Amino acid sequence: MSKFVLIGSGLAGGLLAAYLGRRGYDIDLYERRADPRAGNFVGGRSINLALSTRGIHALEQLGIADEVLRYAIPMRGRMIHDKSGNLHFAPYDRDANKFINSIGRASLNTAVIEAAQRYPNVRVHFNHQCTDVDLDSATAHLIESSLEAEPALSDSRTGVSPADAGRQIIQKGEAVIGVDGAFSAVRGAMQRRIEDFEYSEHYLAHGYKELTIPPGSDGGWRMEKEALHIWPRKSFMMIALPNPDGSFTCTLFWEFEGPRSFATTKTDDHVRRFFDEEFPDAVPLMPRLLEDFKENPTGSLVTIRCAPSDALADLAVDNFIEMRDKTASRTFRAKKKLDHFLEGLLPGIYLPLYTMVTFTRIPYASAARRARAQDWIVFAGLFGAVILLSILLFRVIPG
Ligand SMILES: Cc1cc2nc3c(=O)[nH]c(=O)nc-3n(C[C@H](O)[C@H](O)[C@H](O)COP(=O)(O)OP(=O)(O)OC[C@H]3O[C@@H](n4cnc5c(N)ncnc54)[C@H](O)[C@@H]3O)c2cc1C
Repeated sequence: MSKFVLIGSGLAGGLLAAYLGRRGYDIDLYERRADPRAGNFVGGRSINLALSTRGIHALEQLGIADEVLRYAIPMRGRMIHDKSGNLHFAPYDRDANKFINSIGRASLNTAVIEAAQRYPNVRVHFNHQCTDVDLDSATAHLIESSLEAEPALSDSRTGVSPADAGRQIIQKGEAVIGVDGAFSAVRGAMQRRIEDFEYSEHYLAHGYKELTIPPGSDGGWRMEKEALHIWPRKSFMMIALPNPDGSFTCTLFWEFEGPRSFATTKTDDHVRRFFDEEFPDAVPLMPRLLEDFKENPTGSLVTIRCAPSDALADLAVDNFIEMRDKTASRTFRAKKKLDHFLEGLLPGIYLPLYTMVTFTRIPYASAARRARAQDWIVFAGLFGAVILLSILLFRVIPG
């Protein structure tokens, strides 16, 4: 039986181990962190996420979609909060039955790891950090850590925690597969050893910090439950996703540096003033704002490209800009309405980009290409209609 060594039991690692395990491969999956089921999940960092068609399809193939979605909360559109506290709801699709799902990262991660562990040929080893990979012999070098604590935030960039952490282990397979996230140690080994390995990393000027809106006194949600809330403020934004316990996890995406930024907002007064000015309707719902702001880490947002197809990376960055900046604009909302109108007029022919990415499994690169072509046709059509209308008007209104 072929044996694979997988590094990293995040969302991709757990899922891949389950898929390979189902095919009968012998799998050793190594994860540097402790078992998330022992309550070791990192707090204050991307607690929940939005799950849609592609992710659900992957879970369905393993027969665990229903179990995972049991605790998911549908988000049917974006609820835009302006600076005066006015609300504007923009549905994700013209079909109200199409929505994305807010789901806890810890429970999703646990579900895919457990799906992998159902196969006796899959072994998951927590507290094992990969430090290097010998590419020629497909051998991973690991350190078994006895540390109970999570690696510090800064360790994630180097991928290596203190060398005194523990016993060294060498594990060989048919192949070593790196599913160890943005700061992959496996990719690091490839960069060091493969001469023409293409690699670039780009940090956004923005960091992110998670904050909380707790449940109301009756245990319910204090804002519209079935929506992804956005406070778009051009160069920065806050978003909030609902959790099953009645709370919302808010994420502030804000510049690291600048006159008004994480760097200059240090005191309680600064934090309070910034939030009162920018998110006045959210402040009364955030009794732990100051504590959360001080205690929760500020994460960085990096885009890594190391292969010829960068479609997903481009779409992710475009979506960030769309949420932060464009959702506040009337033109953007009008374009969304036009998208939904054309989708209804030309079913199966015209598909908005968001619909293709979120509610279909059309390959990302094809979706981006098709959206560009559609936009071009719509623009040309509108332009042609304006010209035609002008000519008609000139004829009707005599000189
Ligand atoms: C703020 C934020 C919000 C997001 N929201 C969404 C969303 O709403 N929807 C969505 O689909 N995606 C979202 N994402 C993206 C999503 O989190 C990633 O696409 C996803 O986590 C990638 O999964 P992964 O398994 O490749 O990597 P990760 O989830 O990062 O997992 C990598 C695993 O490898 C382990 N590891 C790392 N180095 C080593 C090593 N040297 N040895 C052993 N183990 C190692 C790590 O501990 C980790 O468990 C968001 C990301 C961020 C930062």
